[in-house]
Amino acid sequence: MHKILHHINGQQTAGSSSRLFDVYDPARGVVTKQVVLADATDVDSAVTAATNAFAAWRDMSWANRQQILFKFRELLNARKPELAAIITEEHGKVLSDALGEVTRGQEVVEFALGAPHLAKGEHSEQVSTGVDVFSLRQPLGPVAIISPFNFPAMVPMWFFPIALATGNTVVLKPSEKDPSAAIWIAELLTEAGLPNGVFNVLQGDKVAVDGLLAHPSIKAVSFVGSTPIAKYVYEKATAAGKRVQSLGGAKNHMLVLPDADLDLAADAAINAGFGSAGERCMAISALVVVEPVADRLVAKIAERMIPLKTGDGRRSCDMGPLITREHRDKVASYIPMALADGAEVVIDGRSVTPDGDENGFWLGPTLIDRVPTTSHVYLDEIFGPVLSVIRVASYEEGVALINASQFGNGTAIFTNDGGAARRFQREVEVGMIGINVPIPVPVATFSFGGDKASIFGDLKAHGADGIRFYTKTKAVTQRWLDPSHGGINLGFPQND
Ligand code: NAD
Repeated sequence: MHKILHHINGQQTAGSSSRLFDVYDPARGVVTKQVVLADATDVDSAVTAATNAFAAWRDMSWANRQQILFKFRELLNARKPELAAIITEEHGKVLSDALGEVTRGQEVVEFALGAPHLAKGEHSEQVSTGVDVFSLRQPLGPVAIISPFNFPAMVPMWFFPIALATGNTVVLKPSEKDPSAAIWIAELLTEAGLPNGVFNVLQGDKVAVDGLLAHPSIKAVSFVGSTPIAKYVYEKATAAGKRVQSLGGAKNHMLVLPDADLDLAADAAINAGFGSAGERCMAISALVVVEPVADRLVAKIAERMIPLKTGDGRRSCDMGPLITREHRDKVASYIPMALADGAEVVIDGRSVTPDGDENGFWLGPTLIDRVPTTSHVYLDEIFGPVLSVIRVASYEEGVALINASQFGNGTAIFTNDGGAARRFQREVEVGMIGINVPIPVPVATFSFGGDKASIFGDLKAHGADGIRFYTKTKAVTQRWLDPSHGGINLGFPQND
C-alpha cells in the first residue's frame, strides 16, 4: 500500500513513528493509501529543519525570495489540474470544485508577491530636532500551520505564501484524512528553488499538533478546524507564549427578505448549501426566510434539487461523497432527528442514487423545512448537504436569530432594498457578509475570518492581517550627531 510521508528538510521521510492512518477514496469507500503519523521525534526533526533554515531565509533579499515564490506561482498555475485530481481522490469534492479551491489558494500566492510593498515600515523625519523615527517589520521565525480536511490545498495557501514571503520558515501539519496535497505542494516549492527546510510537511494527528504547540522554537501557530479544537489550540499555544490565529467552525445563515429576487436566492441557496457536499466553513446551512415568501422559495429550491447529480467527483457530477463513512452517518442522523423535532423533510438525501461506487460515502442533498430553532439540526454545525429552512415574521427576528448563534463566520442577505442591506451589514455579528452573494469569501487582498466562536485570536487570514500576523515590528529612533547635540539630560525624552 502506498505510504504518504513527511517532507522534512527537502526530503520525503517516513520518520521514526510506526503509526499509520488509513486514507480513503471516499467515492469508492476503500482505503487507497496510508499516511505516517508523527511522534515527538518527528515533530522535533521538522521543527529543527525549519529552525536551521530560518537565518539564511530571513537574510535572503526580498527580491530573491520573491523570485522563488514567483516561480512557484508559475508552476502551480501550469500544473494545478494535477493538484485538483489529488484533492478529488482523497477528499471527494468534484474536480471543478477542487480546481476552484486551488485557484483561490493561488490568489494568496499572488497577493504575497506584493509583500515587499505590504511589509514596508513607516518613517517620520524630524520628530524632534535632528531625530527621525522609523519602523521595521521582521519575520517571527519557524511557524506552524495546522489545517482541516475540507480544503487540503486552499487553507494551507491562506497562510504559507505570506509566511514565506515575509521571511519565516514553515511546518505544515495537514489533515490526516487528505494529506497528499501538502506533499505535492512541498515538492513544487522545492522545484521552484525553495531552500531545504524552509517549508516542511509533518504528517500526523493530535500527537503532532500537541508537539508543535509545545515546541519552544515554534513562534506562531495558524490553525483552522472545528471550534472545540480551535479553542484548545488557541489556549495551549498562547499559554506557551506563541502568537496564534485559530479559525473555528461555523453555522452560516442566509436571510431572505420578501422583496428579494427569489430565483436568485434559490440558486444561491443550492450553490452555497450543497457545493462540496456542504463541507465548507462558508456553506449556508440555515436559510432564514421572512414571510410570506417561504412557500414559494422552498418550492423553487426543491425544484432545482431534483436534477442535481451526486456521484464520483471524477465524473460529471454536481456533488461528491462525504469525507468518511462515520461523518456521512453522523450527517444523515440529523434527518430522523429533524422529523422527531417536528420539522418537515422536503427532500431526503438518504434515498439518493449516486453515479458512483455503491460503497462510496454518499448522502444526497437534503432540504428540511420548518426546523425549530431549539433543534440540534438548527443549532449544530452539521457540515454536510443538509439545508434547514427557518421561517420568521420579520427582518428583526431573522437578525436576532443570527446574532444568537454561537458562531459568526459567514452570512448573507438577499434583498433588493439597499437600506435593509446596509442595516444588516451594520447590525449582524458575523465576520464575513454577503449582500446577494451566498459564499462571501473575501478576495486575498482582504482578510478571511469570522467572529465569536468562529475565530480565536485578533488577526485573520491573509490580506493586511496576514502580513501583520507573520511579522513583528520594531521602532527605531535615530539621531546622527551634528554640532547641536545637547549634553547630559536625565529627564524622560521629550520632543523639542
Ligand atoms: P478538525 O478540528 O477535526 O481538524 C483540524 C485539524 O486539527 C487537523 O489537522 C487535525 O489533525 C487536528 N486535530 C483533530 N483533532 C485534534 C485534537 N483532538 N487535538 C489536536 N489536534 C487535532 O476539523 P476538520 O474536521 O478537519 O475540518 C472541518 C472543520 O473545520 C469544520 O468545523 C469547519 O467549519 C472548520 N473550518 C473552518 C474554517 C474557517 O475558516 N473558519 C475553514 C475550513 C474549515
